[in-house]
Amino acid sequence: MGIDRLSQAAIIDGKRYASGLLDRIKVRVDVLKLATGAVPGLAVVLVGEDPASSVYVASKNRQTVAAGMRSFAHRLPADTRQGDLMNLIDQLNADPEVHGILVQLPLPAHLDANAVIQEINPDKDVDGFHISNAGRLATGQNALVPCTPLGCMMLIKDRLGDNLSGMNAVVVGKSNIVGKPMAQMLLNENCTVTVAHSRTRNTPELCRSADILIVAVGRPGLVRGDWIKPGAIVIDVGINRMQEEDGKSRIVGDVAFAEAGHAAAITPVPGGVGPMTIACLLSNTLSAFSRQHDVLDA
Ligand code: NAD
Repeated sequence: MGIDRLSQAAIIDGKRYASGLLDRIKVRVDVLKLATGAVPGLAVVLVGEDPASSVYVASKNRQTVAAGMRSFAHRLPADTRQGDLMNLIDQLNADPEVHGILVQLPLPAHLDANAVIQEINPDKDVDGFHISNAGRLATGQNALVPCTPLGCMMLIKDRLGDNLSGMNAVVVGKSNIVGKPMAQMLLNENCTVTVAHSRTRNTPELCRSADILIVAVGRPGLVRGDWIKPGAIVIDVGINRMQEEDGKSRIVGDVAFAEAGHAAAITPVPGGVGPMTIACLLSNTLSAFSRQHDVLDA
């Protein structure tokens, strides 16, 4: 099959979609401020000085403010004690100006990240990692869902429309933050969902059955062209930093992009799923705000 051309596959431009979503969020913020007299607020907690995390947190703060919301940044030293972090979460849970709480992961090794996440009020859990939100998603109830799969779902629906019923969806990767919630969201849309992971025996064959193929593994070029069904939609979540011979580095996905020309559409890396994540975080903050103020989300 002509898998060395990319001429037919449309490129799903996540950067453009995310920029439009941020514009719509700004309008929603204005409407919600008028309706409630309150300003949506997002608290971001960073423990330690991991450089990548610091960059993410700065970007989240900047975009929160640019969207017309309040941003509360809490930067704690790397040797913060579990009890002090839990106390901060309790304070944020009780603060009426804070509608969303995000704890930047990973936390330093001496801290119990799961305990911290479970301490967050589920109504303010804008990362969607709390067990109550995971359970709500799994049972098809209204939930705050993790930002990355939420962004993937938006891109899929932008391409295929709202009715995904009966489509074969294959999710490669079963992490709690991407693969599992993605599979649950697709099930809630009445897709027939298969989840492949590191112990799956026939992953290429399963992938070839997918109308919608989502890959979240973290292995460059794992999914080859001949794993992709002609006409499929391919969502590549992977972010892999590759060292070039000239010493420069570049980011690639989990799908051998140049071999995917027979797909109907594919997300590039970078510029596909990545830019959606912060926009979805702000969207979740507005959903949380609307629920806490008992108003319909604009
Ligand atoms: P993870 O390490 O928690 O999970 C990886 C999953 O891949 C596991 O379930 C494992 O079973 C599966 N896997 C490993 N080897 C496999 C193989 N050979 N075949 C099939 N499955 C295999 O990773 P994660 O947190 O889910 O992230 C996955 C990728 O997505 C990473 O590259 C990460 O950087 C990226 N990511 C991107 C965004 C974004 O905003 N775009 C957000 C989160 C994660």
